[in-house]
Amino acid sequence: MARLFTTTCAGIMHQIILTTLNARYSHSAIGLRYLYANLGELTDSAVLLEFTNNDRVTEICEQLLAHSPRIIGIGVYIWNVSQVGQLVQLLKKVAPQVIVVLGGPEVTHLPHRVDLSSADHHIRGEAEHAFRILCKRLLSGATNIPQVIDAGPVDPNSLVSPYHLYTDSDIAHRVIYVEASRGCPFSCEFCLSSLERGVRRFALDGFLSELDQLWQRGARQFKFIDRTFNLGLKSVTTILDFFLARQPPYFLHFEVVPDHLPEALRSRLQRFSPGTIQLEVGIQTLQPHTAAVIRRRLNIDAIEKNLRFLDQETAVHMHVDLIIGLPGERLEEFADNLNRLVHITSSEIQLGILKKLSGTRINRHDREFGMIYSDEPPYEILASDLIPFALMQEMKRFARFWDLVYNSGNFTSTAVLLWPDQDVFTGFRRFAAWVYRQTTATWQISLNRLAELLFDYLVNDCGNPAKEVANSLAADLLRIPGRVLPASIRTHVTRLPTTTRSVPAGLGKRQKKRLYQAPSSSRTPAT
Ligand code: SF4
Repeated sequence: MARLFTTTCAGIMHQIILTTLNARYSHSAIGLRYLYANLGELTDSAVLLEFTNNDRVTEICEQLLAHSPRIIGIGVYIWNVSQVGQLVQLLKKVAPQVIVVLGGPEVTHLPHRVDLSSADHHIRGEAEHAFRILCKRLLSGATNIPQVIDAGPVDPNSLVSPYHLYTDSDIAHRVIYVEASRGCPFSCEFCLSSLERGVRRFALDGFLSELDQLWQRGARQFKFIDRTFNLGLKSVTTILDFFLARQPPYFLHFEVVPDHLPEALRSRLQRFSPGTIQLEVGIQTLQPHTAAVIRRRLNIDAIEKNLRFLDQETAVHMHVDLIIGLPGERLEEFADNLNRLVHITSSEIQLGILKKLSGTRINRHDREFGMIYSDEPPYEILASDLIPFALMQEMKRFARFWDLVYNSGNFTSTAVLLWPDQDVFTGFRRFAAWVYRQTTATWQISLNRLAELLFDYLVNDCGNPAKEVANSLAADLLRIPGRVLPASIRTHVTRLPTTTRSVPAGLGKRQKKRLYQAPSSSRTPAT
């Protein structure tokens, strides 16, 4: 059971509890901290309690009620909505006098596919001010308050910043989320951010001062939650300059659009040390007709040019994203997206399954393209006219094995043996189907077991020389000090790697592996 953060001593009663379930311990709930920071004079009556998805709902309920609260505010997201639905029902059964207020994206947008109706109030929109006003009215005894409160977007500069609420323990052990802007100017139909109009920015001086205070307190891992960080050149360059003036190690994560990389940004990105910057680059599709269907801007020439630049001329670590199951996109077209990306960049390519988020306009294609989605979070596509259920299931396994083999960075030399003719999709699809026949599992496959499977497949199914595959696996696995090759592979090794590279401190596991990996030119087999 994880009571991760309280602002006062345990055992003291609090009139207001702010709580949520994070997807994992290392995530810190910036939304709760915003609500808490903006409670005004009610702050002293409130406590902030964070749990994770692994905690049991009954025990969360018990911990919440131990504070004898009058109001419990819960942040509801796609990763916790099922548990929150159970929690609300339990709270209203055992403590019906407690007023339960829900907010967050899963409450803001309709339809609610998890039953949240037993909560007393739903705040739809950005709740920082609305929650304070609601609490004041409730605590003063007001009764004529509607269940649904529409909050709408807030002016970022009307908010009290939440960053002082990160504890020293948060700073030492968890990702520190920060934001310099809210909203996105684009209109991709699968995305909640497309529902907002324009971008709202926090005043830059104040934001930099907050960053500096976090830095002084020892924060070195910053995840920017801005949806399109690389828009707004003055803000972006100033923030990058803030970090360039500081000594690594540190780690920054930004989400960026792929077709906008002006020179002022390029020249700065080139100056960051390896392991300091990670960019999440949404590609989603390279098919013009799919992009048109989902109203996503697509400038393929700029994307290709910028990815090559980032890959070859900076030390930036990239995740590029593709989506499986977009309306109107055939499997052959998804295969083309993947093949092209692998040959443009050596970065991780995250394969996401299309989700139908409530409130988004992706549902307008349901009939035309026979789109069928799960009603369970995270509301993934199950089938479409172009990709039937069995094929979609196969693609979900493909994505999982792709993550284990390709994105993990564990098999950078060996993975390319899976597509000797450079048709990445076909080669990897055949391997993924073979692995699934062997294991009937996509989880809990250890690194050594995966190495043995790769060896077996490449030697016995594809006819590669055992010596060649074993040497390749040795080169991949033994790059990380302390690893031991499985005996069944070791007996075939004729060449052990002689050196391991040193990497900067403070990096994530995958980044370390990517820095240890062979140069990107070795990732495409010779023709
Ligand atoms: S997918 Fe990215 S670019 Fe498109 S609307 Fe969402 S945040 Fe904006």
